[in-house]
Amino acid sequence: MELLHEGKSKQFFKTDNDEHIIIRFKDDASAFYNIKYAKIENKGKMNCAISSALLSYLAENGVKSHFIEKLDDTAQLCHLVEHKQIEIIVRNVIAGSMAKRLGLEEGIVPENTIYDLCLCSKDLSDPLINDHHAVALGLATYDELKQIYAVSERINELLTALFDKAGMRLIDFKIEFGRTANGELILADELTPDTCRIWDKATGEKLDKDRFRRDLGRVRETYEEVAKRLLYALNK
Ligand code: UDP
Repeated sequence: MELLHEGKSKQFFKTDNDEHIIIRFKDDASAFYNIKYAKIENKGKMNCAISSALLSYLAENGVKSHFIEKLDDTAQLCHLVEHKQIEIIVRNVIAGSMAKRLGLEEGIVPENTIYDLCLCSKDLSDPLINDHHAVALGLATYDELKQIYAVSERINELLTALFDKAGMRLIDFKIEFGRTANGELILADELTPDTCRIWDKATGEKLDKDRFRRDLGRVRETYEEVAKRLLYALNK
């Protein structure tokens, strides 16, 4: 298979169909724009299982994504999309960069859901932008942003309910959107402990990539635990 692109945690391969792509999840983990790097055994397999299960669950509940099917332990067949160069971060609880930037304690629950918009630019460290920047930079139209916020809200509702059922709190997550060959704007991203903050409902223990970022230990076991809990909650 022809490798089209290799990212930090995934590889992208060409398929016979021009509108499809194969995405393979790797064991590699990196943080702080590659300052920190490690291989976490089994992460690719767990992330593929988690993301496939979550994207199938969203599809069953009316949220379309690039995901078509899981091919094997670490690979997914997906629709090829043209990505919008923006990231949406959905925050239910203050944590991470938002806590740091505003001098807030991690764990504060805001009255409303917070949506951050970031420009996808590793050179600029994915800076925070607002809707008007996005439109002015030609990254999205106001109509597209409206659609993106509405779908993000629905994804948050569905995932929060599922994580709750699995004994976990969905603190925040990052998603990206893209346009398919037939012009549809859809969710086009992974949903994994690499891109979501997840805390144990009972103990508050961190169950996501912060275990790697912050050297909290039990990284491999955590990805396995999240996969086990979610697949059980989904009867899979
Ligand atoms: N996130 C991500 N990719 C990024 C930036 C953030 O997947 O390039 C996720 C991150 O894992 C967390 C959420 O988005 O679940 C919010 O991240 P935050 O802005 O707090 O940044 P961080 O603390 O990860 O630097």
